[in-house]
Amino acid sequence: MRLILVNPRGFCAGVRMAVDVVDQVLDLLPGETIHVFHEIVHNRHVVGRFRDRGVRFVEDLDEVARGGIVVFSAHGVSPAVRERARERGLFTIDATCPLVTKVHSECVRYARQGYQILLIGHRDHQEVIGTMGEAPEAVRVVESVEDVARLEVRDPGRLVYLMQTTLSTDDAGAIVEALRARFPEIHSPPSDDICYATTNRQRAVREVAPECDCVLVVGSRNSSNSVRLTEIAANAGTRARLIDDAADLDFGWFGGDEAVLVTAGASAPEDLVAGVCRALLGRFGGTLETRELVDESVEFNLPVTLKRMMRERGREPMKVRVEAPRVGGAEYGE
Ligand code: SF4
Repeated sequence: MRLILVNPRGFCAGVRMAVDVVDQVLDLLPGETIHVFHEIVHNRHVVGRFRDRGVRFVEDLDEVARGGIVVFSAHGVSPAVRERARERGLFTIDATCPLVTKVHSECVRYARQGYQILLIGHRDHQEVIGTMGEAPEAVRVVESVEDVARLEVRDPGRLVYLMQTTLSTDDAGAIVEALRARFPEIHSPPSDDICYATTNRQRAVREVAPECDCVLVVGSRNSSNSVRLTEIAANAGTRARLIDDAADLDFGWFGGDEAVLVTAGASAPEDLVAGVCRALLGRFGGTLETRELVDESVEFNLPVTLKRMMRERGREPMKVRVEAPRVGGAEYGE
């Protein structure tokens, strides 16, 4: 078997930041109960590992005792949630990815200017719920090309579309085309809403999948960007499987001499990728190669509240940066 690990894959800067935030808070406040509103990132293992360290994940702020500590997840929250946290006197630390915050700001700005906002995304996703909450009267969610035909708008001359950050660039492009065909005057966002990490991970799969027999995406089923990677592989004509970890592998999926692309969604830790490689090479033997498609060098700051907490305890807050994983050796089954 030829295993081809594509880069970029796995953790993006937003996920790294959110995970670091919870790590730091656990470290700074030993003995305190730390709550996280929704899953910090959409990965079963990341959430499970924090749960094992005592973190409580809540779906409702009323589950947090008055004055308790709560971290908002990378997907962002609506102003109503922030207000509820204030009413209950909660101490909040906001781990929203800055690229999600950017879409929130666009939403607020366009709503203030009297635009109707067509938000392309999945209506049940936490990120879309949070963004919509910035201007519920002004936002309509568009999930598909079919939705475009059914849209009723106030004024076709005062329309803008925004996007969820983790969409398939293929699908989003088709929806934008349909919107432009129906509403030629529609405004576009000032810069791409689909984030750099989503775009780069999809590009890597789109370029390398055609030379492979199978694509394995390491990620959880509720991870939007992981699911989109399997769809991009399928669009490229290569069968794809989404797996949480090596335990999900079914060796019957693979024939003899196969080239298998291995990638990971933006919330999947690299040790799970290594475990998948180890399992496959252990079972089939073969080679491991890496393919670098884009060099990502994105840095995010930690949230202001956390930086203040760190300084008060004599620690210098670091920037958040993701390095490309070092591949090879026994960890990967070589
Ligand atoms: S996938 Fe993009 S928007 Fe989501 S956390 Fe990562 S960088 Fe931020």
